[in-house]
Amino acid sequence: MEKIENQKGRKMIDYEVVEKELNTEARNIILLIKEDYYQYMSQDKKRVLGELLQNGNIVVVNQGASYFKDRTLAHGGRALKDGKIHFYPDVRNFDTEKAIYVCQKLLIHECLHYFIQPDAINLKDGLEKEMAGFYTEGLVEREARELHARHKGQSVFEEANYGYNICFVNKIQNELGASSYEVIFSEADYLSRIANYKAEYEAILKTRKEDLAILGEWARKFPENLQRRIANRIRTIALRNGGISGIEEKLASLQQSSPENKEERKSSEFERL
Ligand SMILES: [Zn+2]
Repeated sequence: MEKIENQKGRKMIDYEVVEKELNTEARNIILLIKEDYYQYMSQDKKRVLGELLQNGNIVVVNQGASYFKDRTLAHGGRALKDGKIHFYPDVRNFDTEKAIYVCQKLLIHECLHYFIQPDAINLKDGLEKEMAGFYTEGLVEREARELHARHKGQSVFEEANYGYNICFVNKIQNELGASSYEVIFSEADYLSRIANYKAEYEAILKTRKEDLAILGEWARKFPENLQRRIANRIRTIALRNGGISGIEEKLASLQQSSPENKEERKSSEFERL
């Protein structure tokens, strides 16, 4: 695909093309969700699934990401209360091809949000709601990775940054009584017991904070012009993995790479981390 740039050097996105491609892919994903989970769904979820397949147009590609100041790439159906997934590829300097590629990777997660919506209605505002949100993202992302692995293989999937959320889910799911698909895809109110796991939640947040501090230290071992990029990249890897194991070895091998044109080489090798 030809890369077009406007006068300011910013790449141009053909929003219509991106939206069409993403809607086709979203429909395929909804069909996979149907194949894997339909038997476990409540009547209400089955109705949602039917409507999504019938009406199409699941994804809206928005221009003007300034609507949301957090520069997020995607929002699920509840963000604008229209039941559609919104993508904002213009928050990054993408061209059409790259926008399709990157947004597609988040689609399984966003589509699963339609069906994994544990009821948090009885929770108190504040910490309990925060924990419920943290837990739900972990549950959705874990299922997204598993669905992807089952149908599309593991390697090309760039996961969302919910690794620590998945750790939290793995840790307490059985105790919460939310370990089976029958429960996850039903209307069960299992989050009402999440307040019992404050200690586990706080331990995960503490680990995440400590991990990120360690990564910051590691990044400072690199030449100054690379530090920021390296810090951002390893932060992303840690957040996706839910831990920092293996990152230090990779960084050490980068530090020892060839003497000539060292910085450039480090930088490009780094992209493949
Ligand atoms: Zn999510």
